[in-house]
Amino acid sequence: MEMLTIGAFAKASRLSPKALRLYDELELLRPARVDPDTGYRYYAPEQLEQARLVAWLRRLGMPLAGIREVCALEPAAAAGEIRAFWARIESETATRRDLAAFLVDHLSRTAPRNRSDPSFPGNPSEDTTMLELRYSALSDTGLVRPANQDTAYAGTRVLAVADGFGSGGAPASSAAVEALKFLDSEPLPAGSVLNLLEDAVQGATQAVQEVAGPTNEIGTTLTAMVWTGSQLALVHIGDSRAYLLRDGGLFRITHDHTMVQSMLDEGRLTPEEATAHPQRALLLKALTGGGGSAPAPAPDVRLHDALVGDRYLLCSDGLSAVVPEATIRDTLAAAPGPDEAAQALVRAANDSGGPDNVSCVVADLLNAESQ
Ligand code: MN
Repeated sequence: MEMLTIGAFAKASRLSPKALRLYDELELLRPARVDPDTGYRYYAPEQLEQARLVAWLRRLGMPLAGIREVCALEPAAAAGEIRAFWARIESETATRRDLAAFLVDHLSRTAPRNRSDPSFPGNPSEDTTMLELRYSALSDTGLVRPANQDTAYAGTRVLAVADGFGSGGAPASSAAVEALKFLDSEPLPAGSVLNLLEDAVQGATQAVQEVAGPTNEIGTTLTAMVWTGSQLALVHIGDSRAYLLRDGGLFRITHDHTMVQSMLDEGRLTPEEATAHPQRALLLKALTGGGGSAPAPAPDVRLHDALVGDRYLLCSDGLSAVVPEATIRDTLAAAPGPDEAAQALVRAANDSGGPDNVSCVVADLLNAESQ
């Protein structure tokens, strides 16, 4: 077999000798032979393909450890790894895109307004109709668990569901929700939505750390919506969910922070496999105790445009894990008001065995005059 010098191999692979030496040092592409006397590197022609692959994976932004892994795999498995890597990037980008959209939206609304133009975003002239929430919150132990570690709350501005876990799960979920209630008691100062949300998120994070102590085995999910008067601000971490029923369609507006959801996103699981996965409740993010040096994971924060006639549902996994979304949609749509909807949904979870605590918050967005 004809070995190539590093110069010849560089020419053939169109990579620089410097890049090849770097790949060797990083253990991404070892030369087929290194002369023990001179230290010269020699490459086999079959290594050209791999050299190209390393260069392309670096261009893709894959970390070195990932490249090493991909290069050691059979083509089919390597393709799977690259697909999973890219799905992770897209999901991280989606989170940042939401944050960017949130900031753009917020700043457009607080920009100086052209009062004569009713279509200008955030112009008060489009907010002259007073909207308000009609709401109901219900939490139930279910039929199997010895205690209820969920907390559900609804007020004039704050809707929240928290699903506590670990030995102090109940105090953790109630602490997270308690930390948001201040938003209900005072009038919201104009133009301070970002500050208020940050305070709310910080407050909830700290409150959970205080009751959970030094362990991350104790904690809670938190899915909350704060009504600003024209929009709903969404705060979400964990696997509780927020749904919107609009024009008869049910839309999930939160993304589960679970291992199973990320495997679904990466194409490693089918939706059918996900519902039966033994570790489907394993959370990737939650508010927990511990603290320590690692920064607490940040909840997703988003502004959501609400319309008159919208019906929102916040629920713990005690509902979504056992009641199919089609049933949730039909039950939500059939109920005359939030009270009846929350009761019917909790009943549906218990009719399906009630294996977990179940919490439902239902809220309708109405014209103030229509109440
Ligand atoms: Mn639960």
